[in-house]
Amino acid sequence: MEAEDMDSPPPRRICGNCNRPSPVCLCDSLPAQPISTETQIIILHHPHEAQHKLSTTPILTKCLANSTAIISRRLKPGLSPLLDQSPPAVYLFPPTKSSPSVNVSQLRRPDRDAPLVLIAFDATWKHAREMVRASEGFLSKFATRVCLDVDENASGGSIYDSELILRKEPFGGCVSTMEAVARALRVLEPNGLEIETKLIRVLRDMVALQAGYLKPVKPRPKLLKKGKEKEKEKEEEQSDPIQT
Ligand SMILES: [Zn+2]
Repeated sequence: MEAEDMDSPPPRRICGNCNRPSPVCLCDSLPAQPISTETQIIILHHPHEAQHKLSTTPILTKCLANSTAIISRRLKPGLSPLLDQSPPAVYLFPPTKSSPSVNVSQLRRPDRDAPLVLIAFDATWKHAREMVRASEGFLSKFATRVCLDVDENASGGSIYDSELILRKEPFGGCVSTMEAVARALRVLEPNGLEIETKLIRVLRDMVALQAGYLKPVKPRPKLLKKGKEKEKEKEEEQSDPIQT
């Protein structure tokens, strides 16, 4: 107990609104009012990643009025009253040889007035693939698999390719669900560009905060001291009056 008191930093305060540690509280960046959309957004969040501190899903559901996160490994009847009604829906996932995806911008919507449900997966590649495979039996009855324009090169840690700095460690694969939803909403919503811009701004703030917080800034004290002493010696040598 004593050792813990001495070694560990004081417990970090968690912001009651955004649920993030106070040094990286995002409340100032969040929209004053959650953004309303015609599209209903459902994020399927893998239980392992739901605790991840860099997950964007909690932030995304704070930003978007019509969004819900479901923590589960697969979508099935009984999890979401909305999905149980078999609404017109799309789910974001890159294509494979056996399962093609329609580019979201080429999606045919017979009735543009019928609100669409957008489903995204928040997980690592491996888990997301498993989640999609496990959910497709249910989803294929009413939902179309769609991808973003930038999905072709999907690789690495992120299941959605990213134009932001998010693929860099330690953010790879952690924050891109929000970006993917933002990009899809740009296409699906009448004022999509505005919505995308707002969401990406929050995302950038989150990444900037997190980057500043994680960056190791302290040089090792010993090296610093040694360096300073050497410098001092040099200075003294130089300032020694030359006796002739
Ligand atoms: Zn906060």
